Amino acid sequence: MAAPDESVVHGSKASPLAKPSELPALDKLLRDSAPLVAAHGHTLLAREARALLDASRARAVAGSLPRTELDALPQALAAQVQARLTPSMRAVINLTGTVIHTNLGRALLADAALQQVLALMAAPNNLEFDLDTGRRGDRDDLIEGLLCELTGAEAATVVNNNAAAVLLGIAALARGREAIVSRGELVEIGGAFRMPDVMSAAGATLVEVGTTNRTHPRDYEQAISPRTGVIVKVHTSNYAVQGFTAAVDEATLAPIAHAAGLPLMTDLGSGALVDLAAYGLPAEPLPQAMLAAGCDVVTFSGDKLLGGPQAGLIVGTREAVGRIRKFPMKRALRLSKLPFAALEATLRLYLRPERLVQDLPTLRLLTRPQAQIAALAAQLLPELAAAVAPRFTVETVALQSQIGSGSLPVERLPSAGLAFSAVDGRGRTLEALATSLRGLPRPVIGRLHEHRLLLDLRCLEDPALLTAQLAALREALA
Ligand SMILES: *Cc1c(COP(=O)(O)O)cnc(C)c1O
Repeated sequence: MAAPDESVVHGSKASPLAKPSELPALDKLLRDSAPLVAAHGHTLLAREARALLDASRARAVAGSLPRTELDALPQALAAQVQARLTPSMRAVINLTGTVIHTNLGRALLADAALQQVLALMAAPNNLEFDLDTGRRGDRDDLIEGLLCELTGAEAATVVNNNAAAVLLGIAALARGREAIVSRGELVEIGGAFRMPDVMSAAGATLVEVGTTNRTHPRDYEQAISPRTGVIVKVHTSNYAVQGFTAAVDEATLAPIAHAAGLPLMTDLGSGALVDLAAYGLPAEPLPQAMLAAGCDVVTFSGDKLLGGPQAGLIVGTREAVGRIRKFPMKRALRLSKLPFAALEATLRLYLRPERLVQDLPTLRLLTRPQAQIAALAAQLLPELAAAVAPRFTVETVALQSQIGSGSLPVERLPSAGLAFSAVDGRGRTLEALATSLRGLPRPVIGRLHEHRLLLDLRCLEDPALLTAQLAALREALA
């Protein structure tokens, strides 16, 4: 067989291929990039230049490096350095329809929380310093009064996240003893957080009572023994048990626990601090109601419905919270000053409930009226249609948003958005669109559903973030 013409295989004659020997030496490339070296230093530039030359040499050896790229090596190096200096963690646009999305960082911080973080993190602060006495203080003192006022608790403390709060609570109350939990509440909350595993990690022996669908007061009563350390209730936040069911609520369980001298602990998971029904949202159990029902300890997350930073909030009686605070593991799980500053500022917003819908992004997004979202969809439709034509068509659609993060799992919020279909009707094409959207400077995350790509616009408060990227999208799809 005749050897094919080289210009056909390796590109046109106008763009011949570079030989390995034509590549510049490292020193030459660095000299040609002098301003970059001056800006970022020799260490980074030499490392990146070497990597670029190694990769180029491999391509030259393989016969796939166009000579034109030789002249563009300084530009390629600049781009590579820029990419190395850009953090991997980036802002994205959440159009999944799930408002508190665990994979996308959960709650957005309120302005007040952001300002507080900015103001405090580059300066020393009184995190553990009592300004009245000039002595060592306790970080809990900065936040305990506020948490008690908001929840009606006698005492409160905070840790790194709610998983830590549950672990610490069980360890402090039932290490080396038994913890009683209903079989209907042995939840897994994604990843490695399974209630039975948390029990053993906390050093407590799990005693399961009742059945998956029904647990009665007598089940708890019969399980109580001299070895019992705590009775635990877990809010089944990411699933619903429906049909022939029975669970024992906190108000019924508290007297049973207290008659045996035991504390009752409830893990609420999401834990809203205000009655969501008052905002037209599905009701969620409140820590204040759990305490009023007689719980000794209530734990909940800082970055779910509360709308703050990652944190685990523990509120309860002076006696039970005191035991938790003194438990040695507390020191390892404590909340760092960065989320601490954001959490305090977020909690202070709850002192003005009338303003909460404006002030707290989570609540603002959850309560956004469908008509407003639908109007935004209609407004964006022509520009988006033009950006994805001719391979895709777009239409406005009514959608159902989810609250997310295991909150109110079966509830949906009426929403609206845009649905993209591939003109050739192929799923692969639609996936390419999803990939292009994720590849934008500020990645856009939608969801694929029944041969359509859906963008739920509930969480798009600034449409310019999307429209500013449409030229880039058109280019990516070309
Ligand atoms: C989310 C959740 C947790 C874990 O909370 P993190 O703040 O994510 O650690 C624990 N229990 C329940 C019921 C939850 O919903």
